[in-house]
Amino acid sequence: MSSVNSSSVSRDRVAKQRGIPRRCNCGKAVSCFTSRTVENPGRLFHSCPLGSKQDKTHLFKWTDKSVVEEIEDFQDLFDVLLVDNSEFQKSMGAAESMMKCNNSKIEEMENAIAQCEEKTTKCIRELRIIKALFLCCLVVVFMYLIFA
Ligand SMILES: [Zn+2]
Repeated sequence: MSSVNSSSVSRDRVAKQRGIPRRCNCGKAVSCFTSRTVENPGRLFHSCPLGSKQDKTHLFKWTDKSVVEEIEDFQDLFDVLLVDNSEFQKSMGAAESMMKCNNSKIEEMENAIAQCEEKTTKCIRELRIIKALFLCCLVVVFMYLIFA
């Protein structure tokens, strides 16, 4: 339990330095070195050029830990992307069904417009017939008035 606490505390302390560090808090660019100590032979680490074993204020970080953090962060990002992708797929599905619905409404409207055009044409034809009948009646009335 105490080891979990200490690791979370140290993680908080270097929260800005997650993953492979680029700069030390002093502003200097960090470099990668290989350890030549008996405890960690050949182990890679990132360190500030101004740092030393005595001066703990400058950055020192084992590269394998940095790489693990990079992989963890990438995994988190990947999980977010997976969630985003599934959300995107859902919204795409909703958009497609909405588009199908709109297409069927457009088709209904086109049918209604076609029916209106047909009715208008029929009305115009009937009005012409009524006009012709009215003219015939008028002619008959005139002839009646003239010859009667
Ligand atoms: Zn430094």
